Amino acid sequence: MKPGTCYPENYALSANIHQIIVGLRKMDLYSIVDGPFLWIVLLAFLAGFLMRISFFLCAIGVSSRSKENRQFHILTTLARFFLPFHKAFAKKPFYAALRYIFHVCLFIVPIWLSGHIVLWSESRFEWDWIALPDAWADGMTLSILALATYFLLRRIIAKNIRQDSSIRDIILIIVAALPFLTGYFLAHGTLEFIPILGENMVTLHMLSGEAMILTALFLFYTTRLSIQKCTGCASCVQNCPTETLECNDKGGVRLFDYAHFQCICCGSCVGVCPEGAAELRHEISAKRLFQVFSKREIRSVELEACERCGAYFAPEPQMEKIGLTFASECIKCCPECRKTKMGDRLHQLSPWHRQKTPAKHPGLLTRKASDGHT
Ligand code: SF4
Ligand code: SF4
Repeated sequence: MKPGTCYPENYALSANIHQIIVGLRKMDLYSIVDGPFLWIVLLAFLAGFLMRISFFLCAIGVSSRSKENRQFHILTTLARFFLPFHKAFAKKPFYAALRYIFHVCLFIVPIWLSGHIVLWSESRFEWDWIALPDAWADGMTLSILALATYFLLRRIIAKNIRQDSSIRDIILIIVAALPFLTGYFLAHGTLEFIPILGENMVTLHMLSGEAMILTALFLFYTTRLSIQKCTGCASCVQNCPTETLECNDKGGVRLFDYAHFQCICCGSCVGVCPEGAAELRHEISAKRLFQVFSKREIRSVELEACERCGAYFAPEPQMEKIGLTFASECIKCCPECRKTKMGDRLHQLSPWHRQKTPAKHPGLLTRKASDGHT
């Protein structure tokens, strides 16, 4: 084939592509957001949702602890997709209650909003269902916005929370709140006096809604162990019902591993942690979607070596904390050496031991007796 020549079918393909590009140029942003992009987002969400459920069922299937409770774990975890009820409620009841209200509103408003139901009934599906009264929808939308503002300020202002937060945590709150903010402006015509915003509010509302749906696809509710607070005691590991959390002592370090698809978000680790170091937090990650069985390291803690035999026997932060309460030289020893040391001490204090001592050192007995010692 000579350079510059082209097969007829290639001409046809080029012409088709050209037509699509010309068509896209003619379309405004709204028709893209309301047409092909909306379908791509909805189909991606549906496929991703089914994929996540399949991965979760596989991961729960390989967890070896609590086999008889697997079905219960599966059902409760699916319910937690929408309402994050778990055993850690008692640790922060006020904050947990606010989170539940936020999630309930986040779920109810988009589905039962009259404006959305009208769009479904006018679509090719002609689906229709009972809508929320508009006043309720408004109240719930304002609750979402108020709570999102509170969560955002809490992350930015409170120093201890800021230390454990990342920029992704802040972006997540903004992404969750934006569709409700633009929806409220749209319903009430709040910003219509600003032409550029008023004219494009529908597009902004749809774009922000689609961004939220896509984000939900890559959103995980995962366990975190705070570096500042965790002492490495491993109570969380012992109480994890699905072996999602594991720890191993290797060469003077205790490593904590975590498998996110295996986690049923039960909150047991949060509930039992004596330091308030375990937390269940949202995390956005595209690569985690494809890491089905792999475990990742979420915490490592140095181990204390016994001062007698050199064996590693307990996490350093935990021993430091115990040392604040008990001032005994025995706590620097491993359990075996501690027994030996205590045995030696008791032996020295025993009357038989003391009776023998004067026979060897008669001068010492005389001096102690004269000093008034018994
Ligand atoms: S229970 Fe708390 S302090 Fe102990 S290892 Fe787990 S997170 Fe750390
Ligand atoms: S890691 Fe925590 S929340 Fe996840 S299953 Fe184990 S105990 Fe439950």
